[in-house]
Amino acid sequence: MNQAIAFAPGELDRAAHLRNADTTFKDSRARTMVFWRGKLLADADDRPMQVALDHPALGDAREPAIFLGLTDNGPRFAADLPLWTPPEDASTIGQFVDQSLQVHPAWPTAKFVEVRSVMPTLSRLDGELVATGRALLGWHGSHRFCANCGSQSMVESAGWVRKCPQCGTQHFPRTDPVVIMAITSGDNLLLGRGPSWPEGMYSLLAGFVEPGETIEAAVRREVVEESGIAVGTVR
Ligand SMILES: [Zn+2]
Repeated sequence: MNQAIAFAPGELDRAAHLRNADTTFKDSRARTMVFWRGKLLADADDRPMQVALDHPALGDAREPAIFLGLTDNGPRFAADLPLWTPPEDASTIGQFVDQSLQVHPAWPTAKFVEVRSVMPTLSRLDGELVATGRALLGWHGSHRFCANCGSQSMVESAGWVRKCPQCGTQHFPRTDPVVIMAITSGDNLLLGRGPSWPEGMYSLLAGFVEPGETIEAAVRREVVEESGIAVGTVR
């Protein structure tokens, strides 16, 4: 079996030393993935569309594309189009499983798809690019104003920092540590499901680690919170 696993150890060269250089933006092989409200612009095979950085439709971006790293095919970026409004109803966006597809007139053969639905079929590299781009763009979208003084902050370091021009505070992308656990009893495995999930979908229990908490303590707390079951040894 040669199944790609999303979030597996990375193949992307993040090239952090190039984040303050403009050479990546000027590279003729530079391409960007395009996101809209957290959804990915994908081709007919559900692969991320790779768009030139000077494509006119990127005028609906509010901020510059984020430099994600270098690949064998050139620098790769992620761009968000918050200013674009699709012609059709988009009321299902944000649901746990959003099956709606939006078509942008600039890319009539592509569509915006929910990332969760395509993640299992992406290559390891594409999966890493999509996960990184979506996480960073989501953070930018909800952190446009300085948490210290309330002024509008600016993108720096090709999207890996926001800086406040008023008070000088730097803000860095948020990363949330989580635990996911296999709770067993003999041959039985504990699974759960959310009320909004599709019929037949179950998951291992999982949750966020709290500040100062050990991973083992987070496992015990989350399992009790979600199932009422006290667990034994955590390893
Ligand atoms: Zn500030």
